[in-house]
Amino acid sequence: MADLGNPSATGAVLEKYGIRAQKKYGQNFLIDQNILEKIAQTSQIGKDDLVLEIGPGLGALTQILCERAGRVIAVEIDKKLIPVLEETLSGYDNLSLINEDILKCDLKDLLKEGDRYGSVKVVANLPYYITTPVLMFLLESRYPFESVTVMIQKEVADRIKAGPSTKDYGSLSLAVQYYSQPVVALQVPPSCFIPRPGVGSVVLKLGIYREKPVEAKDEELLFRLIRGSFNQRRKTLVNGLKNYAGLDLSKEQIESAIEKLGKKPSVRGEELTLSEFAELADILTS
Ligand code: SAM
Repeated sequence: MADLGNPSATGAVLEKYGIRAQKKYGQNFLIDQNILEKIAQTSQIGKDDLVLEIGPGLGALTQILCERAGRVIAVEIDKKLIPVLEETLSGYDNLSLINEDILKCDLKDLLKEGDRYGSVKVVANLPYYITTPVLMFLLESRYPFESVTVMIQKEVADRIKAGPSTKDYGSLSLAVQYYSQPVVALQVPPSCFIPRPGVGSVVLKLGIYREKPVEAKDEELLFRLIRGSFNQRRKTLVNGLKNYAGLDLSKEQIESAIEKLGKKPSVRGEELTLSEFAELADILTS
């Protein structure tokens, strides 16, 4: 039975094992059963799903995931938490617990039983110090996840959802929106965690596209163009791209591509939509 999602049960587990939350691993444990239930509801998991959980911590979310999913694979970097998890999750036989850094995992191998399930979903209260690398690792792996439902800092979610000509718009917005549709499902205050994080949190659900609405012929080039454009965001697109080490383009080539795109020579990268970036990449490819 899921029984960890409250301050006294979490406090008791920490005390029993003499554990202190490790800042270096971004440990902020959820202590609100209601929020835990809502994360599970948002991810819409059922018995036909294989779930990858990143950072099970003490196991509060994992308990709920094990009750609802067909199988759960939970990857925890902190080896001190493994004996704790073995106890808090001892009642579940549909769990594989792995002591590893998620960024070092081979996802295909980790999730090799995925095709026996209707879908594979990621659910996690992410360690905030590596939110962006973990999201990009999942998306760029091209593993056919159905969805990724994660607790993250509100500021990062604002950047992910942002559109052109706003201060939050940048490489992260475009990269995540290339692969998925982001929706904020829930706001979560610091009081729902032990210890309390210094920032507000949200639960963000990324619905991964099976067929991308925007696709560049050369994705490598698209992402290099995006990085080059936002590297020096105050500069015009021409100046940003011509000085960017990751690209080997002359000023004339860039100016001509921008003209073909139907934009003024003074356009800035932050004004372009995702589909305009993809079009620019395709113009430069052809
Ligand atoms: N899921 C638990 C909860 O909701 O209470 C804990 C969430 S806590 C914010 C993040 C968890 O991720 C911690 O248990 C931390 O040790 C783990 N973690 C940090 N970096 C990790 C990594 N690179 N790979 C796997 N787990 C990691």
